[in-house]
Amino acid sequence: RIAEAMAARSKDELRSPICCILGHVDTGKTKLLDKIRQTNVQEGEAGGITQQIGATYFPVENIIQKTAILGDLTEEYKLPGLLVIDTPGHESFTNLRTRGSSLCNIAILVVDLMHGLEPQTLESIRLLRDRKTPFIVALNKIDRIYDWRATPDNGFQSSFAKQPKHVREEFETRVTATITAFAEQGLNAKLYYENKNFAKYVSFVPTSAITGEGIPDLLHLLVTLTQSRLTDRLMYVSELECTVLEVKVIEGLGTTIDVVLSNGYLNEGDRIVVCGLNGPIVTQVRALLTPQPLRELRVKSAYVHHKRVKAALGIKISAPDLEKAIAGSRLLVVGPDDDEEELKDAVMEDLQTLLKSIDKSGRGVSVQASTLGSLEALLEFLRVSKIPVSAINIGPVHKKDIIRASAMLEKAKEFAVMLAFDVEVDKDAALLAEQLGVRVFTADIIYHLFDKFTAYNKDIVEQRRKEQAPSAVFPCILRMIPGAIFSRRDPIILGADVVEGTLRLGTPICVVQFDPATKKRDIVNLGVVTGIENNHKPVELVKKGMAGAGVAVKIESPPSDTPKLYGRHFTDKDEFYSRITRKSIDVLKTSFREDLSKEEWALVVKLKKILDVI
Ligand code: GDP
Repeated sequence: RIAEAMAARSKDELRSPICCILGHVDTGKTKLLDKIRQTNVQEGEAGGITQQIGATYFPVENIIQKTAILGDLTEEYKLPGLLVIDTPGHESFTNLRTRGSSLCNIAILVVDLMHGLEPQTLESIRLLRDRKTPFIVALNKIDRIYDWRATPDNGFQSSFAKQPKHVREEFETRVTATITAFAEQGLNAKLYYENKNFAKYVSFVPTSAITGEGIPDLLHLLVTLTQSRLTDRLMYVSELECTVLEVKVIEGLGTTIDVVLSNGYLNEGDRIVVCGLNGPIVTQVRALLTPQPLRELRVKSAYVHHKRVKAALGIKISAPDLEKAIAGSRLLVVGPDDDEEELKDAVMEDLQTLLKSIDKSGRGVSVQASTLGSLEALLEFLRVSKIPVSAINIGPVHKKDIIRASAMLEKAKEFAVMLAFDVEVDKDAALLAEQLGVRVFTADIIYHLFDKFTAYNKDIVEQRRKEQAPSAVFPCILRMIPGAIFSRRDPIILGADVVEGTLRLGTPICVVQFDPATKKRDIVNLGVVTGIENNHKPVELVKKGMAGAGVAVKIESPPSDTPKLYGRHFTDKDEFYSRITRKSIDVLKTSFREDLSKEEWALVVKLKKILDVI
């Protein structure tokens, strides 16, 4: 079958590449897509552009028309067309993959020429690199350069040549700044017409989504780049490549899936397998649907039915049992020779891999994302950021997800958190979260989620430190300066050196006495440090080596204890230890780990031995 599939591949019959648009908010992604869709043909015909499900298809004739202004390029185009995914900025689509490589064959990263690189641009770059997706940069809003003289829908270079000197200068300054900003991200970039090495340099295409300038250049580059550099990925294969973009309930149809067919064919009646939250779903295609073209709105049905469709296209599939299907899943067709069980395993594979990122300790945040791809991106980010995850899910956040997250309230409060990436939180779930004390953070950008979580986590840690401060005992060893006793009992006041560690207010102090009669070691608790004076000035703490001539330490015993007496319970020959316990060590470990130096942690171990702490 593989040989057959390979034979069916041909460099002459390429499929349409799939293109995604992404970038920071307000850079002009939507406007750019609108402008590309808009036709400049007089009669207002859509020029063969077909609106699909979640995507727009531009046949090559339309692209030829749109790029005609650059000269006659008809000969150059080998692709049947271009499929542009419609939801710009929806980065989950960039995350979608078919068999390990990105569903998007090429991406347009839109950058606002007037703003340069913005936070979301950086995130997009990171994603594109992770997925090894080739991309070109639309340097948009060139018309906003002061005094720009627009020639609508013109090729960029021709328009640029018409600009006055100061406009050209400002343009060049901004381009240089953007190239520098890309360099800081480790990316070499050049204006596309100066770019001689597309493998090494990212191309900038200056555009205006308002005047349409540069759009011919953008389309031309998209097509020529993909057909020259991605031929291999664009050859037809008899094998199918199909990905679920969205799961949607449609009146009259029930739960449907919107898919992108990136290679191969789909037929009405095909037996299909997709990944479901509760296991693989096997069902039969009832209908393959695309929207009714605009000009035929009078037709009753909202959809056109297809018997057979060919890649690349976006299409809605109506079939039974799709309720639990998940966005981002691969879709496979059961052929006559296929082992259905094998296909079921194959579609579940991606989800199984993600389930492995759940922390073994059972402690961690809950995460939820819109698609398998976006969940994968989020999990990867959390892994790198060392934030453990205890539960994952795909799709909107419901009550049951909150209940699951609330299990952490007992185990580790800082993880009683739901990170919702690019998904809705339903009202009941939000309400329940508030009642239970589960924090829900939502964002469309991964690092925003991360920022919200880390800020929250810091608050929680700070709060816990405050609560636990009284039970924290920092390690130290003191030695009395011989004869330096200023008050023999309650409060004891003595002069001492900090031999090791740090002496702090509030530290309980003890000595260890050996009773020769019973041959037993006894820990004698003297009380708690309530005053420290260094050079006659009260201080909160004294570190080893800080006080040259020693410090005066006041030790008060708690009312419940019998006060200890100098000469009877302790002398100036004793070593004085901070009284650590199992509990105080645990508190240090959970909340004050960073406050202790390596040396001080070693001292904790030493004191543990001296004081027989198990
Ligand atoms: P998106 O958030 O990236 O999809 O950005 P939009 O397409 O919604 O555009 C954001 C704003 O920028 C809108 O007000 C657009 O009209 C404006 N805009 C987009 N592209 C251009 C452009 O090339 N030139 C100018 N002057 N404005 C633009």
